[in-house]
Amino acid sequence: MRQRVIIIEDERDIVELVRYNFRKEGFEIESFSRGRDGLDYLRRNPADLVLLDILLPDEDGFEICKRLRADERMKSLPVIFLTAKSEEMDRVLGLEIGADDYVVKPFSPRELVARAKAVLRRQERVAEKREVVESGALRLDTRTQEATVRGRPVELSSLEFKLLYFLVSHPRHVFDRDRLLDEVWGRDRFVTPRTVDVHIRRLREKIEELPNRPHFLQTVRGSGYRFSPEVLEGVEA
Ligand code: CA
Repeated sequence: MRQRVIIIEDERDIVELVRYNFRKEGFEIESFSRGRDGLDYLRRNPADLVLLDILLPDEDGFEICKRLRADERMKSLPVIFLTAKSEEMDRVLGLEIGADDYVVKPFSPRELVARAKAVLRRQERVAEKREVVESGALRLDTRTQEATVRGRPVELSSLEFKLLYFLVSHPRHVFDRDRLLDEVWGRDRFVTPRTVDVHIRRLREKIEELPNRPHFLQTVRGSGYRFSPEVLEGVEA
């Protein structure tokens, strides 16, 4: 699974340089020159790392970082600041805004990639400890591949478990079929988007109270699927 890096930076030369080097290393990368556009994107799409410039045309990088940290879904998203001046660096270090690292411009793209990998490795170690994911009435244990709904165990195939685990780990995010194929089935696959529909249907039959009126695994018309952890009144068993 390719890791997705978001760069929020208004200097085009830097963006191009960073984009080239991260792509070469196998990352997916999206760029935004305005802080608010980057933030909007991050609220709708999962990401693994943010490279954040400080002086931006709208809100500054410090403000963006604070907003990320205030958002339940993004509070532990790694951030590396791209700072232009030593005063900015002092603020990164001095303010408790939760940056994971920083580089000072002009930086070598190779060094930035190395720092990014180090931050991501650290993040993965934290994630590995999250062996049990609980969301709403659902509980998934990755050690035993056991799933329970309202305390009741359900039998899942390993692909079904993987698909459910991915969706539950990104509550409320909408994923299209191609993205789910990439994330769950991987790149070398001989399956079609229909495969996703089939697996979603099977999962619904196993975990939903009313498979035809699903409340966990929702279809978003024209876009794909999402997991909703909300417990609806009157749907309880
Ligand atoms: Ca700038």
